[in-house]
This record gives sequence, C-alpha cells and structure tokens, in this order.
Amino acid sequence: MSYNVAVCVKPVPDPKHYDKVTIDPVKKTITRTGIPTLVNPVDKSAIEAGLQLREHYGGSVIVVSMAPPNADEILREVLAMGADEAYLLSDRAFGGADTLATSYTLYHGLKKIEAAKGYSFDFILCGSESADGATAQVSSQLGEWLGYPHLWNVFELEGTPGKEGGGEKETFSMKTKMENGYMEWTAHIPLVLGVAREIRKPRFTSIMGIMKAKNKPLTVWGRADLDAAEDTYLGLKGSPTQPGEIFSPDLKRSGELFTGTPEAIVGRVVTVLRSNGVVIGG
Ligand SMILES: Cc1cc2nc3c(=O)[nH]c(=O)nc-3n(C[C@H](O)[C@H](O)[C@H](O)COP(=O)(O)OP(=O)(O)OC[C@H]3O[C@@H](n4cnc5c(N)ncnc54)[C@H](O)[C@@H]3O)c2cc1C
Repeated sequence: MSYNVAVCVKPVPDPKHYDKVTIDPVKKTITRTGIPTLVNPVDKSAIEAGLQLREHYGGSVIVVSMAPPNADEILREVLAMGADEAYLLSDRAFGGADTLATSYTLYHGLKKIEAAKGYSFDFILCGSESADGATAQVSSQLGEWLGYPHLWNVFELEGTPGKEGGGEKETFSMKTKMENGYMEWTAHIPLVLGVAREIRKPRFTSIMGIMKAKNKPLTVWGRADLDAAEDTYLGLKGSPTQPGEIFSPDLKRSGELFTGTPEAIVGRVVTVLRSNGVVIGG
C-alpha cells in the first residue's frame, strides 16, 4: 500500500531579521515585505516524516504553502529535501488571514490538488506550530474542514500492517506529547497530523537534491484558481480574528546601584521591595 502525503509548509521571518519586522498601523498585520524568510523549523520534521513514509511504503510527497510570491524560494528548498512537487497559494486576496482563513485556503488548495491528481491524500502533515504566529491552530482546523481525524503534537508515528474486512488496511499508532507525559493513539488513514519536532530529524539538502529541485514542478495558484472557495472565508476580510491595538510594551526600567556591606545592601533591597508592596517575612 503506497500513500499520498501532503505537507503544509509555512515561510516564517528569519529570526536574524526580527528587528526589521513591522506592524501595518492600519491593517494591524505583520509587514513581511523585504524580510528574509525560512522554512518554519518544525515543518522540516513534517517533511522528513512524509519522505520516510514514501521511502517505506511508496507514494508521493506534495508540499503546499499559502504565502507571498517570493515563497517559491522556500519551496525550492523543500523540493531539494526530496518532496516530489510543490503548490504555492499566493494572492493578495489571501493576505492578512487569521488561522481560520489560512486553514480554509489550504483546505481548498488540497482539494484542488486532489481533483487534479485524481486521488485523495492519505496523510496531511503540518508542524505543531509556526515560529511567528505560534497559535498551533491550523492543523486541527484543517482536520475539521476536511472532516478527517486529526491529532496534534505527534512525536511518534508507526505503521502496523493489519487485516480488516479482507482488505489490507494499515493501522497507524501515534504518540502525542502532553504536559506530564504522552497519549497513545491508533487510527486509519486519512489523517491530519500536527507533528512535533522530535517525530523525525530532518535530512540536509544535498547538491544532487538542489539540482533536481530546479526541474521539479512548482505550481502557483491565485484566488481565481480556488474557484470553490468563498470570499467570506478568505484573507483579512474573511478572518473572524481581527487584531486589536498592537503596541510595544514600555520596557523602560529604572535601576539603582546599591553599595556598602552585604548586610547594608540586603537591608536596602528589603526596604525597596517592601516600599513596593512586596511582603517579606512575618
Ligand atoms: C504574532 C502573531 C500573532 C497572531 N495571532 C493570531 C491569533 O491569535 N489568531 C489567529 O487566528 N491568527 C493569528 N495570527 C495570524 C496567524 O499567524 C496566521 O493566520 C497564520 O497564517 C496561521 O497561523 P499560525 O502561524 O499561528 O499557524 P500554526 O497553527 O501555529 O501553524 C501550524 C502549522 O500549520 C501549517 N501552516 C500554518 N500557516 C501556514 C501557511 N500559511 N501555509 C502553509 N502551512 C501553514 C504549518 O505546517 C505550521 O507548522 C497571528 C500572527 C502573528 C504573526
């Protein structure tokens, strides 16, 4: 049994350039223009998990991203890791999307790819969270739009051949991270998984991989291509989460240098703390 895998990949601002990140004062969304981006780190683990499913069972690995046009560079990097094909959903109409609008757009992108390929995806893999928005909402929302079972924070995924109704149907066992341990799950495909970084160690891209990636298909779709999608759920307009006042907290701190004997300094510290309402001792 071979599997068709889709991996959702988000370009995120390169942390080395966070100082250049600004907020659009009117739309209150992040201005990404001109800020170098990279593949959301945990999405590389999702891609690796997809590649290993293909190496173990056969099938295909397709990556999908909703992002500005310059995300094609990011997708070429992912194709160089070994993915077969990439789709970039890019249009101003998708801009400013909150998680609901993002997952809705990805849902329609995935459905359109399935229609084009004549098959349905067995696994849709996402990272557990992005390095910028970090809401950790998209994978579960995607599961809901698709109507598929979905799990979040999956750090282990193993297949167990099984017989069901005479058809060879694989059962997958998974473990998800919890605060104080983990939970075990078994399920059949199709599945939507938000994976944790530990699920697989991403491979490095090889020169051969980079060369091959140049000729691998990378398709860009805009609003008009997602004809089944409704404007009501797209972009900033289709986003129920409208950012409120965004401001940088006033981090001004006053400092005072205490000198003297250790006892004198401790005495001074206690006095200052108490004068600021901190209860110390009886
Ligand atoms: C600082 C900040 C705070 C935000 N707060 C909120 C908020 O409270 N509520 C809200 O609805 N939106 C919020 N957003 C907007 C949100 O980041 C976007 O909607 C984003 O496209 C999806 O959310 P996320 O980055 O949190 O994704 P997460 O749910 O954290 O991402 C999980 C996984 O989903 C996949 N994924 C996510 N986005 C994409 C994409 N564009 N293309 C392909 N795959 C993707 C990736 O595999 C990723 O690892 C915020 C954005 C920022 C920068």
